[in-house]
Order: sequence, then structure tokens, then C-alpha cells
Amino acid sequence: MPNINFLSSKHYTNATTTNYGDCVLIDINGKLVIYDCGSIEHANEVIKYMKTNNYEKAILILSHQDADHFMGVPHLIENNKISHLYTLLLLKHKDKLLELIGDNRKTRESVTKNITEIYNNIYSLSNNTNVILCDTLTSINTLITPHVKILGPDINYTLEAVAKALDSREGDTINNETIINAVSTQVSVTFNNTKVLLCGDSCFDAIEEVIKDHNHIQLPHHGKEQQALKIWATNYGKNDIIYYVSDNTGSTIGGSDKIYKKPGYKMKNTRDGQILCSLLLSSSASIAGNLGGDE
Ligand SMILES: [Zn+2]
Repeated sequence: MPNINFLSSKHYTNATTTNYGDCVLIDINGKLVIYDCGSIEHANEVIKYMKTNNYEKAILILSHQDADHFMGVPHLIENNKISHLYTLLLLKHKDKLLELIGDNRKTRESVTKNITEIYNNIYSLSNNTNVILCDTLTSINTLITPHVKILGPDINYTLEAVAKALDSREGDTINNETIINAVSTQVSVTFNNTKVLLCGDSCFDAIEEVIKDHNHIQLPHHGKEQQALKIWATNYGKNDIIYYVSDNTGSTIGGSDKIYKKPGYKMKNTRDGQILCSLLLSSSASIAGNLGGDE
């Protein structure tokens, strides 16, 4: 059965004190796409899953390069499990970035150096012959497999935000998120009447336009309250939306503390264990939830 599987660190060692990060498996019609892999432990679960389900290779989409989304990726590549890795490849956009920064002290060389320093973990993979690196920004609105599409963020929004991050005269946050988080790659999975939005650690502004098109939504940044409240306000009155929280952060950085088990929403949290989102569910499918419609 086609499924989306949010891995949980609940049964890992020291789960309450360790940030194991995100890992979501999208398994549809004989194709496996992995969205983020934040720890070796998750990577080992993925390898086990691939063995059980006869997958030789998977496609990996990295929402962004922070450790809690990336740390398991090299392990998967070393084990030759990934055919293509989609991520922000900003060197492809360095001329546009240089133009947007608009600081004549900057050169192509210095921008290249800045990008490879900030995104060093991604560029450390570029000489690896096991995997083909693909740029998400030039793949927006492209189907990666018949049901999985890279949806955003918008290319202009992203390049303007990154130009700000590379500009020493500017800060490195936008819309109250770090720029690296804010421009997380967004993925849309469509199957029958189910439309699932996966959005890493996106800021609300980057996903605002696409929220209304989805009936299953990952609450960004491990269920951070600030984004969740805005998403709920956008969906006010729509009681059939199912929210997913990937919060394997332990006690390290908070995650979904403020919204965990908040009444009024159909919400599933990896703190309680692995979450299966069956893609055969329709938008009106009911799941256990205490619907009060508060907030
Ligand atoms: Zn994160």
C-alpha cells in the first residue's frame, strides 16, 4: 500500500536527550523517495526498510543542510543507497546571487567561497560518484516520481534570502527563521484525494501560498508554535486537515513542546512513535482527534 512513513526516534537510545532529526519515507508504486535523514540511526532504519521492501536505490530530497536533516545522508550514500540527491545547489546561481548582493567588493570567487563555506556539508558530497546531485531550485514544479513533486520555495524568494545570508552587511534571518531554515525545500505528494505537504523547517511566509492546496500538512520546524499558529489560522474552519509533526528533537531544542497534544486539531507526532500516513485515505477520512476548533 502506498505510504508516507515519518520515522520516530522513540525507541532509540537516549531519545529524550538526543536530537535525531527528521526522516520521512515516501513509498509509492515501487518508488522510494526519502525526505531528509537527520541521523545514522534513521539511516540504518532506512537501509533496513529498503532491504525488507526490495529497494536497491532511493531518491533523496534534502529540505536543508542543518545537521538534524542531513547527518544520516552520508551514511546512505556510502552504502550506495541513493541514486539522486536533490538539494539547493547555489553555485549554479552564483551570478544571480552576486547581482542581488550588489556589493562591488564581492567577486564571483568570493561568493563561491562563501557558498561552499556555508554549505560545506553538501559540497563535501560533490565528488562522490555514488550519487548524482540535482538542484531543487531548477526542479520546482517538477515531478521527481509520478506522485512526488518539488513545490518550492519560490526561486526569487530563495535567491533574495540567500543573497542576504551571503551579504556581510545583512543579518542571517528572514521572517523570524534562519535563512537556511526558511528556504527549506518543499515537497508535495499527491495520491487519489490525498495531498501531503512536507516542508522541513520552512518559515510560514515561504509556504503560505501552498497550504490551502493540501489536506495533510507537516507542521514545519518540528512543530514550532510560531508557524503552527499561523497555519491553523490560515486553515480556520477546515476541520478535516491532518497535521504531522516530526519531532525527534528530544529535550535539545524544544520542537513541538508548545503544541504537543493541543486539543482541536487532528495531529500526529513522532514523539508518540512512527507515523504512517496512508495515501489511500481521502480528504474526509476520519482519524482519532478531539475536534473543538479552538484558536
Ligand atoms: Zn530542523
